[in-house]
Amino acid sequence: YFNEQTTIYLNGEFVKATKATTDLYGQTLHYGYGVFEGIRAYNTENGVRVFKATEHYERLKNSCQMINIPFDYDIDDLIEQTYKVLEVNNFKDAYVRPLIFCSPNMGLTKPNGVSILICAWEWGAYLGDNLLNVTISSFCRPHPKSTKIEAKVCGHYINSILATTEAKEKGFDEAILLDTDGFLAEGPGSNLFFEKGGKLFTPKTGNILPGITRATVIKLCQDLEIELTEGAFLPEDLANADAAFLCGTAAEIIGLQSFEKKSFPKNWNETLGKKLQTAYKNLVLEKELQETN
Ligand code: PMP
Repeated sequence: YFNEQTTIYLNGEFVKATKATTDLYGQTLHYGYGVFEGIRAYNTENGVRVFKATEHYERLKNSCQMINIPFDYDIDDLIEQTYKVLEVNNFKDAYVRPLIFCSPNMGLTKPNGVSILICAWEWGAYLGDNLLNVTISSFCRPHPKSTKIEAKVCGHYINSILATTEAKEKGFDEAILLDTDGFLAEGPGSNLFFEKGGKLFTPKTGNILPGITRATVIKLCQDLEIELTEGAFLPEDLANADAAFLCGTAAEIIGLQSFEKKSFPKNWNETLGKKLQTAYKNLVLEKELQETN
């Protein structure tokens, strides 16, 4: 992720990643009380572009506000600093990671103050390019009454790490997590869509991270006149689907091969997911939307 040359943005300054320090007595390190974002920059025909930069920094701000972490930054300035991080590191296709972490305080109280880090690294498709074999996780998503589930909080990712590790140990590529009522929720770092009878379905918000890619896919469905229903769905609905995919900033759009070892019947290249994947790639690369029939 970094080497001697890597430069990061830390509290208004550009410093070498290997020289930057943080203190050991903060609530983020000890309790997971911090928030972060995951953003992608693409080398488009019009130069390097940070995709949905405003949406990501708005979510960073909202995540902070939801969990009482002060956010006193200017979003346009953070976007500018993001472009500088990419520029000084000469990154063109990269993943950007802003993190807000707390100043020294060992109490279970509001933070004394915060720091902001923006780092970046070159990262290929997070879940690879091959269709995925997925399984239901024995871990469910955190109950929305136990935390602010719609905030992108550091500590929430223990749940994601446990689910991913379990799925991989069982020989699957990725986990699908249910909510505490047993309805389909999302992947450990992505949102879920499935296709049935020429229509698309996705779990409604409330128990999931409302993904920015998910919102982009919803918008693309409108543009491409794909019928989409947001609702509460059961694992059986996924088992009986014609096709399915996961989507997220890091994963982009990636199709599923099988669910609990049962293959989806539709050839991926003929699915709505494939059509959306092509449209998404064109969008992030700022290419004209192609007709993809
Ligand atoms: N759900 C979870 C739990 C995630 O971590 C992510 C990745 N941020 C997503 C969904 C997808 O969100 P986005 O499209 O904003 O990256």
